[in-house]
Parts: sequence; structure tokens; C-alpha cells
Amino acid sequence: MELRLHDTLTKEKRAFVPLDPNNVRMYVCGPTVYDFAHIGNARPVIVFDVLFRLLRHLHGESHVTYVRNITDVDDKINDRAARDFPGLPLNEAIRKVTEKTAAQFHTDVAALGCLPPTFEPRATDFVLPRPDGKADMVTLIKQLIARGHAYEAGGEVLFDTQSMADYGALSGRKLDEQLAGARVAVDAHKKNPADFVLWKQSSDDEPGWQSPWGRGRPGWHIECSAMSAAYLGEVFDIHGGGLDLIFPHHENEIAQSRCAHGTPTMANYWMHNGFLQVEGEKMSKSLGNFFTINEVLADWPGEVLRLNMLKTHYRSPIDWTLKGLEESAKTLDDWYWVAADTKGTRVADTVVEALSDDLNTPQMVAALHGLRNSAASGNERDRDAFAASLRLLGFLSESSAAWNDRKQKASGIDAKQIDGLIADRTAARARKDFGESDRIRDLLAAMGIVIKDSKDGTTWEVAR
Ligand code: AMP
Ligand code: ZN
Repeated sequence: MELRLHDTLTKEKRAFVPLDPNNVRMYVCGPTVYDFAHIGNARPVIVFDVLFRLLRHLHGESHVTYVRNITDVDDKINDRAARDFPGLPLNEAIRKVTEKTAAQFHTDVAALGCLPPTFEPRATDFVLPRPDGKADMVTLIKQLIARGHAYEAGGEVLFDTQSMADYGALSGRKLDEQLAGARVAVDAHKKNPADFVLWKQSSDDEPGWQSPWGRGRPGWHIECSAMSAAYLGEVFDIHGGGLDLIFPHHENEIAQSRCAHGTPTMANYWMHNGFLQVEGEKMSKSLGNFFTINEVLADWPGEVLRLNMLKTHYRSPIDWTLKGLEESAKTLDDWYWVAADTKGTRVADTVVEALSDDLNTPQMVAALHGLRNSAASGNERDRDAFAASLRLLGFLSESSAAWNDRKQKASGIDAKQIDGLIADRTAARARKDFGESDRIRDLLAAMGIVIKDSKDGTTWEVAR
């Protein structure tokens, strides 16, 4: 089965040929850790987790390296630190904000069934040259200056966009178009308005590192050029993120990495997920439809969010709705029931085929429904493949008993309490205390529980 992936740079779906099949290398831009991640941020994390799992399935678990960074230097972080910890020195306050936010992010995405990436570097560990000799931002910037692709001006180091013949190829923006729209007066020290910051000066109350250009901090884009080179080399297989990152972030990563290393490519496949909106509207705090992953997880199991995300193809926009979540929850209740704790040994070809077509997850969901139906009508081979496929994809992380328990708790029903009441009722009937046994039956009915007596004992279910 051939894996085909859509590449934003060449705008085509091509067979995926790794540079080294023994070490397939993928980089995905991670979160800026200043606040809870929102449900839109969950999309790239889930999408590229599915790709990571597929690549491990196709090439072997130890043959895939997945790097997702943590951006822990950013002016939004500084502002948040000053606001939330006004009594602390700024660097301590920043550390508190980034540590707390990164820990929350890890808890959130683990609940969504995402595997940890192979490496999760933090930007601040890659600003200065490192004892282990891995790539760092200051050395990259020095290389860019030495090769004539960057210059110092107005206290900054800037990338010289005109020094790169095909700058703008990823986003399809041409330099002269950018010139026309730019506000030249504001950026008078730039040779070209499209030139972007590699290094900027820090005032005493801003975080900073000593560099050949004075005490300062890196621009946003250079961190990913450094961290991807540090773990994946100068040229690697896949680079991903949300489509808002195509310009300027990924365009500028490409410019920096290619010009610093003198390579014609940075990554062979550029993959971008579409945006998520909520109930048909752009998610925004002012519209009151802004949800953090953490908030949604308070109401729904992580696997429901995961399935809900995968019902839409990653390149299409996704409309996140309550109705969609309810349907996803119903599907998973049914899947847990049909999979019935089967461990599963062989992942279904239909599922791998769907994913191999540029991660066609809607088709994958259809394949899972097909397996479900076959399993429910007694095909044990398909039950095995159904369960194995669900597990490959990050589902069935709980036993079906735990899943049902949680479902009942979520609807205010505690299975242990009901079993206890039924035992009390059976005891009451045994001693012919029918007043008490009727009272318990009525109590259960009021809780929405229907009981059924048979010669084998009493069973119960939730009234529909
Ligand atoms: P940020 O922390 O804003 O840089 O975003 C982290 C990741 O989430 C990036 O890959 C963004 O492209 C992605 N992202 C942010 N908002 C959305 C959204 N509404 N829908 C899908 N992806 C998003
Ligand atoms: Zn990045």
C-alpha cells in the first residue's frame, strides 16, 4: 500500500518516499505556552499524531522520529508573566507561566489519546551554542550573516529576503506584491519591508541572552529552524502545522534553513491542517464561543473529541458542534460495546488504505463502521481487525466496563450504587418485605433505571 501525502509547496499529492526508511523524520510546530490550549490547537496535535501512528505502523515504531517543539520565548509570555506574577522577578515569573502551561498542555493532549513526540525541545534551550554541539539559533544567524542572507540594522538582525531568489514559494507571495502593501515608514531600517527579524534587542526588563549583537532575544521563526536541524538534520521528510503558519512562519523557516545550510529544500512534504470553527462561527473570546481543550474535556471523554476531530479530513475546515460531539459519543459507546475488550492483532487493510490516501480519516471512519457491522454479525476476524485498528488510532484506551461506568457517572448514574440497591431489594424480597422491595424499585425508576427480574436474577438498564 502506497502512502500519498499532499504537499503545500508543490500543491500536489505525491507518493511518500522517506529520505531514510529507517528513520522517517517529522517536525510539527508546537504550542506557545502562555495560556490553556484551545480546541483549535488540538487539531494539529491530533492530526499529526495520527500520521505519526501511521508512519510507525508502516515503517516500524523505532524508525520514526517526531519532533514537536515548545515555544517558551514570546512577548505574549512576558506580558502574561508580568500580569500574573507582578511580585516576582520577570525570569522567575516567566518560568512559572511556561512550566504551568506546558504541564497543562501535556495533560490535555494525553487525554486526547496523543502519543508523546520522540523529542519535545524548548526554544530557550536552543538560543545559544550548546555543549552537545546541536544546532542553535545564534550559530544559524551567524551563518546567515556570513553567507550574505542577513544584516544588522536598527539594533536588529534581519533576514534579507531579496537575497533569496525563490523567497515566497510556499505561500505563493511575490516580493513585489508584499512591497506594495507594506507600510515602509514604520520599517525604515529594513532594506525590504518583507525582511523579518532574526534577533532583536531586549531591554533590561525583557528576557535576553548575550549574543554577538548585544543582549537580545530571537525572532519567532528562527527557533524552528534551529530545533528541526538539531534533531532531524538540514533536510528532513515532513514539516507540519496549521495553515495559518504557512505565512509568515513556515515561509521564513524555509528561507532561514535553506540559506543557512545552502540546501535546495528544508522538508520534502509540507502539511497543513485547516481551521476549526465553532457552530459555524470563527472561535473568539468576544463571541463567547471560545473553548479550551480542558473545558471540553470536563464534559466529554478525550476519545470523543478525538473521533469528532477525525470525522473531517484534515485539510478541510471543521465545524465543531455540540451535535457532532453527541454523535461521536454515541458512535464510541457502540464501538466499545462491539469491540468488547478484544485486544486485536491485525490492523484492517481498509483502515490503512484510507489513511494512506493523504490521511483520509472520513474514509477511515467509514471503514471502521464497516468492520463494526461485520463484527456485530459475528465475524470474529473482523472484530479482531476492528479492535486492532481502533487501538492503532488511539481509541479503546479504557476497558468497556470503565467506559460505561464513566458514561453512567456522566449522566448522574453510579453503577455501584445501583448494584447495591438491587442487592438490598433482592434481600428484602427474600425476607418477603414487599413494602421495602417496592420502595427500592420506585427509587430506581425515579433514577431512570429499569429493572428486569428473571429466574437468573435481576438485571438493569438505563431507561431510554
Ligand atoms: P499557536 O499556539 O497559536 O501558534 O497555535 C498552535 C497550533 O494550533 C498551530 O499549528 C496553529 O496553526 C494551530 N491552530 C490555532 N488555531 C487553530 C484553529 N482554530 N483551527 C485549527 N488549528 C489551529
Ligand atoms: Zn515552527
